[in-house]
Amino acid sequence: MFARFKAGHALPAVACVALFTASCHGNLESRVDSSVSAELTQTRAIDNHAHPARVTAPNEPPDHEFDALPADVGPTDPSNELILPAPMRPGNPIFRAAWQDLYGYRGAAGLKPDAETKEVSAARQKVVAAHGDRYPVWVLNKLNTDIMLANRVSMGKSLPGDRFKWVPFADMFLFPLNNESYFRLDPDHKAYAGSEERLLHKAYLESGLTLPPPSFDEYLTFVSHRMERWKSDGAVAVKFELAYLRDLSIGNPTRGSAERVFTLYSQSSQPTNEEYRTLQDFLFREVAGEAGRLGLAVHIHCAAGIGSYYRSANGDPAKLEEVFNDPALRGTNFVLLHGCWPYTQLAATELSHPNVYIDLSGLPYFAYPREVARSIRNYLEMAPEKVLFGSDASPLTESIGWEDTAWTNTQVNRLALGLALTGMMEDGEITRDRAKEIGKLVLRENARALYRF
Ligand SMILES: [Zn+2]
Repeated sequence: MFARFKAGHALPAVACVALFTASCHGNLESRVDSSVSAELTQTRAIDNHAHPARVTAPNEPPDHEFDALPADVGPTDPSNELILPAPMRPGNPIFRAAWQDLYGYRGAAGLKPDAETKEVSAARQKVVAAHGDRYPVWVLNKLNTDIMLANRVSMGKSLPGDRFKWVPFADMFLFPLNNESYFRLDPDHKAYAGSEERLLHKAYLESGLTLPPPSFDEYLTFVSHRMERWKSDGAVAVKFELAYLRDLSIGNPTRGSAERVFTLYSQSSQPTNEEYRTLQDFLFREVAGEAGRLGLAVHIHCAAGIGSYYRSANGDPAKLEEVFNDPALRGTNFVLLHGCWPYTQLAATELSHPNVYIDLSGLPYFAYPREVARSIRNYLEMAPEKVLFGSDASPLTESIGWEDTAWTNTQVNRLALGLALTGMMEDGEITRDRAKEIGKLVLRENARALYRF
């Protein structure tokens, strides 16, 4: 997820007189079996997918490496207005509950959004200043999160490797040619493809290349060396957010046909869309194969997305079945992010592939707890040992930072997991002991087995 939007998009805060979280979920908490709830509360979570920000000094530019795709796409263009899912809107009272718990901020009722943003930022800044570079770790401790997988362009000293595990972005490798055809599609695709180009050129420079490698062999070597470097720098997975740029139907072209496209167009001119796809499909499988060789999982955004030009059909996980079923890629583990919302039932069936997992990150952006619980139950009824907890914590606005969405999404997903397990217990599908066991698997043990922490 990458949607960072300007505070101008904020809806006025709804009246939420009591700031306690229970008031934000009605009586849902009381429906979770109390011993299951206790188990979920005390288990230290592993968060499979998030975008934590680095702590920056006052004289440093703000951190923009928490995502590969550019922030603030949309609000600058009136034809590109973001219509956010209701749970993500700043008026959701759960954000006020997060501010209260994290910064002790209570805020006066009826404050205008701008004034509230200033007050929240000041309250947060005090806590950041008190903890300095240990602030991100303090946030994890506050959430009872042991380890957070940080999907970022690069890491930093305030995100120490024992608590934050790196997941770099691999999409840039699929955009080595002239990207005019993407630029022409719409403002979002123009911004995203431009971002992939910039990242790829930065990677060339970091690899000592002043120009793109002239031959396909050298390009593949560059990709492979880059991934080896990531692994040695602590990466545990790579992430594709390709669905923001194109659909996930990945063909299986020959190396010769991909090489022909690269050789023809790497120095000049534009490939046709079909030619570019041939190259991209080959490169996707190449990256996935290398990830398997290096013991890196492949994370894939396959869900709805944020942005007025996003195509939800791009997020259909069934389009990846040819990849899951490629015998050459059975050594690669794929993790479907964001529960594949809204393809949740279909996504559950994808867990029948031995190398496919799913996470809960970001579900609370798209739906409220009752609906999130329904989706979680679909996955648990299929393969509880392949479901991973996650938040997709991301900075959204000046007043809603990554730590706030870490707080809200962790809380909603813990609650929804409790509701799903309680429902399964009440329907006689599992015992209370098994419910507690599954809770621990999802919150922690499945991730430990997958990543070998
Ligand atoms: Zn994300």
